[in-house]
Amino acid sequence: KSLKRNILITGGAGFIGSHVIRLFVNKYPDYQIFNLDALTYAGNLENIKDIENAENYNFLKADITDADKIKALFQEYKFDSVIHLAAESHVDRSISNPKIFVETNVTGTMNLMEAALGIWKENLEGKLFYHVSTDEVYGTLGETGLFTETSSYAPNSPYSASKAASDHFVRAYGETYNLPYIISNCSNNYGPNQFPEKLIPLFINNIIGNKDLPVYGDGKYTRDWLYVMDHATAIDLVFHKGKNKETYNIGGFNEWQNIDLIKLLCKIMDGKLDRRKGESEALITFIKDRPGHDKRYAIDANKINKELGWEPSVTFEEGLMKTVDWYLNNPQWIEAIVSGSYKEYYKEQYL
Ligand code: NAD
Repeated sequence: KSLKRNILITGGAGFIGSHVIRLFVNKYPDYQIFNLDALTYAGNLENIKDIENAENYNFLKADITDADKIKALFQEYKFDSVIHLAAESHVDRSISNPKIFVETNVTGTMNLMEAALGIWKENLEGKLFYHVSTDEVYGTLGETGLFTETSSYAPNSPYSASKAASDHFVRAYGETYNLPYIISNCSNNYGPNQFPEKLIPLFINNIIGNKDLPVYGDGKYTRDWLYVMDHATAIDLVFHKGKNKETYNIGGFNEWQNIDLIKLLCKIMDGKLDRRKGESEALITFIKDRPGHDKRYAIDANKINKELGWEPSVTFEEGLMKTVDWYLNNPQWIEAIVSGSYKEYYKEQYL
């Protein structure tokens, strides 16, 4: 029988957080899971509707930038561990509005650690602050090489700078105040429930609607892609088996140039939508590059593979198929999002 625990998961109404929440609620009936989320544009309780009545699931609407509120929640619920995913997460938004990235990603992370130390400092035994981060903190790679856990930090966008700063604060709280912590840095995720401003859902949605597929620059940017459920299982493993003060890189050993990924997606969509071969590909249009655009990211995930025995469960083609099927089967999910404020943002950004 597993230990009874009170686990705070932040950002559980978002893309990755919703998959982590579902996994924990279903897999660990003896844990009380608290989902803390401010429900920004990116948070959507529809993502976890299937588990909202589970006995071990609790929702707390709160903003991590509100230090007093966060402190009060720790006092009230006595969380013994935190899995911290809440963040402003979209690079393009960080270019037009960097300030909120500092507030949520840096100050918000600090507020959580302060509140945790406030109730943990007498007895740190069995406590854990698990900070979920990105490979973008490492900056960009040349044609070869991989990011390892010891690669130096060189963030290029306000988003990655804010995540890098939060990683440093977590480490510093560990060194200075003995906060037990783990950090994981993951590559690009894709899968069901991803907000349609991100590349794969944006393109699936545009192909369905016969709209242009905006590709930055020459399309030669390289990213390492991981199916979101595989990230969730890695987080589960790191949370339970990871070592204090360690960093784990998580990635799919799955590098793709944007343009090749888009062509593969177009091929899958032609098949699913019964379209002529090449019909979706004809929607590709190249647009002006964004500033500070990193050329290539790729993760060396050997440490988590060797030490914790984690590996991705699906190939990229399988994951993409599952993702496309999910978006085709859930048009109302997209419909609800591609209206209102998001529409305004989209117009500003891409039209
Ligand atoms: P997301 O934007 O889909 O979800 C973020 C969630 O955080 C939303 O539910 C939002 O409402 C909530 N949130 C935002 N600001 C908040 C605040 N001030 N207080 C409380 N809640 C707030 O993001 P995601 O893609 O699911 O990413 C989750 C985490 O994983 C982030 O920390 C991100 O940096 C990291 N990450 C993401 C990827 C990726 O490819 N998406 C890859 C590696 C790491």
